[in-house]
Amino acid sequence: MPPGGPVEMLRQFLIPYYPGGGFKFMDIEFDMGTTVKQKEYATKALHLAATIEQEYRNVLVVITDHTDQDSGDLFIGETRGKPIAGEVYEFMTCLLSPFERAIRGGTLVMLACGSIVRQTASFEALQDAVVRFGFSASIAFDAEHLQLAVTSSFLLNIIEATLIEGHDIRAAFPEALGYLYHLGMHSNVLLLTCDLEASVLKYTKYIWSHRDYRPWGNDLPLQCPTCGTPQQWKRHTDGNTSTFTCVYRGCGGDHAARTDVVTRHKFSYVRPSGAMVLQPGKRMQSAWLMLPTVTVTTSVAVPLASEAAGL
Ligand SMILES: [Zn+2]
Repeated sequence: MPPGGPVEMLRQFLIPYYPGGGFKFMDIEFDMGTTVKQKEYATKALHLAATIEQEYRNVLVVITDHTDQDSGDLFIGETRGKPIAGEVYEFMTCLLSPFERAIRGGTLVMLACGSIVRQTASFEALQDAVVRFGFSASIAFDAEHLQLAVTSSFLLNIIEATLIEGHDIRAAFPEALGYLYHLGMHSNVLLLTCDLEASVLKYTKYIWSHRDYRPWGNDLPLQCPTCGTPQQWKRHTDGNTSTFTCVYRGCGGDHAARTDVVTRHKFSYVRPSGAMVLQPGKRMQSAWLMLPTVTVTTSVAVPLASEAAGL
């Protein structure tokens, strides 16, 4: 975990709310790139877990890591000086098993690049891990290269609303996102909540949409990929579909020929089905949208204490 950033901000923010020893902060680095390193990590982590001398009412776990852009796997450590990635569920099991008793019912924040949720297999593995460790709520981002600083204000908002003020996280999410257009320009946000009694996990995607700059939560490049022209795309809206056409008249063909508009580079985006416009932060041309919640019935086994010992 790098020093500073949103985690340090959260620590500084939370300390005054827990006077008299009610707040404990643990910063754990990991390198599990080899079997030997995994055992070393397990020993260190189990020792740290043993220092958690009381049951905390609120537990917040923040994992900061890079992901493999193609697979969504999380980087687990180094082998012979080279970084290696591990499958998400396996990674989470190695990393969190020593703390499983302490973190059950807590909140998880994944500060990792977006392939972890964009890739179906890794996102499903993340869901399994969320159930496996009993996180009541989890937050993830889908930006291709997540900039941690951009998440800071949102994390402060949502942690204040839930841990300090006691609001339900689903009710608090729209307000916490509200005016954070800089986060919306950078990343969509996912919320996963878990009802362990019913073995049901629900997840919801929140996207920020701007009519011209981020149509329906999609990145619109500043430069045309065909002709390289930096530009403001020419938008045409037809019902729920917005089409953006390169403004350079020679795009897609012979420069001298001034090709027809049909050959110019185009992007088309359709309003996601069932997207609901959120009122906090809504402007004429932009708003946060909530996509329909997906319910997943999981078959992940309930946590076993022996898994921690078996690392
Ligand atoms: Zn072009």
